Amino acid sequence: MAVIAYIGLGANLGEREAQIRAGLAALGRVPGVRVLDVSSLRETAPVGGPPQPPYLNGVARLETALSAPALLGVCQQLERDAGRVAGGPRNGPRPLDLDLLLYGDERIDTADLIVPHPRLHERPFVLEPLRELGVEPAALPRPARPLVVADPEEFAALNTGWLHGRCRTGLVPTMGALHEGHASLLRIARQTCDRVAATIFVNPLQFGPKEDFARYPRTLERDLALLAREGADAVFVPETSAMYPGGFVSRIAVGREAEGMEGAARPDHFSGVATVVAKLFALARPTHAFFGRKDAQQVAVLRRMTRDLGFPIGLVECPTVREADGLALSSRNVYLSPEDRRAAPVLYRALRAAHAAHAAGERRAEALLAVARGHLAQEPRARLEYLELRREGDLAPLAPGPVTFARLLVVARFAADGPHPVRLLDNLSLGAPLDA
Ligand code: AMP
Repeated sequence: MAVIAYIGLGANLGEREAQIRAGLAALGRVPGVRVLDVSSLRETAPVGGPPQPPYLNGVARLETALSAPALLGVCQQLERDAGRVAGGPRNGPRPLDLDLLLYGDERIDTADLIVPHPRLHERPFVLEPLRELGVEPAALPRPARPLVVADPEEFAALNTGWLHGRCRTGLVPTMGALHEGHASLLRIARQTCDRVAATIFVNPLQFGPKEDFARYPRTLERDLALLAREGADAVFVPETSAMYPGGFVSRIAVGREAEGMEGAARPDHFSGVATVVAKLFALARPTHAFFGRKDAQQVAVLRRMTRDLGFPIGLVECPTVREADGLALSSRNVYLSPEDRRAAPVLYRALRAAHAAHAAGERRAEALLAVARGHLAQEPRARLEYLELRREGDLAPLAPGPVTFARLLVVARFAADGPHPVRLLDNLSLGAPLDA
């Protein structure tokens, strides 16, 4: 069955018009393709990419019996025939550009193809020729990014579609109140994956009865702006009742990785984290999932859960993003009073001092801990909760003997005697470069 398709035309190297006309003629000779109409060609300034000559742009209307992927393949072959080299710079100069803009009224969202073309609405050099051919762009579906999805089944279906489109899909679970630490996770995810979904869910299972579940900052509008800026494809924002409907009882048990440190301070915390992440994995079935090293013990727990349950998902541990004064970004930093905020970088200073001592050759665990403790003791606003050296990776207790490679983890409370103490976490690898 024939479908009407629209192809964006462009060139900014060589004999631009001749190449476009030759490309169209070749397209018209492909069995199953008929060129019905071509807009006027107009000269336009390049958008993005390296400095380059101006473009000639237009749009062609086709009738085609080819599938959308087949038509895309034909366009890419014609681009290569015109001398376009694969692997050039993004938005770089080219002798011929043939973009599949519209294919009937189909919506396509696969690894190779998004239709309607995702940047169509931002490009006057596409919109104007489309209008010339009688297409009113305002009437076209606008591929909203990120797609905001609240229904778990809809989120699962979206991810299934991406998987069937052979996309590598990245999941970035968060509790919202997004900051530059979350943004860096999204950026790393976008480098690895074709589609990236964030989740925003303040998970009641991971909060203790006396903790800050009700007070946890909720900033959805700002979060959506950050996700749009970082190019997230979707964000899952379920209600608690949708994640845990009445009668929900299943829990992921946690073990050795959850012992001590956060696991001791917050008894059911890691079981709650592992349960929600397992549920998100089951819904989204991502190929990759991205977590911050700032919550190092959480990463160790989630690696264990992923391995034990056999989720075929690559966990990616992302470096900690810090303020200029070294304080690790955290959604809870907004709770700090101005005085506590000024005092808070002592955590990183203490870790750095131990790192420096280790780099200078100190290998005795007690001596390394004493260096960090000395710094923390100088700041009366910080009440030390724990400071521990653990084995790198699984964070098991360190074997006795010289410390060659280990992770130093610290938690301190600020406003410890007030009604709302703020716990801040940080950690650093000894024996590795500073940002690891
Ligand atoms: P949260 O919203 O606090 O549950 O955090 C969501 C994810 O972002 C977790 O994987 C955190 O480890 C990660 N994250 C939080 N703060 C930072 C940071 N400063 N740098 C990098 N990742 C972070």
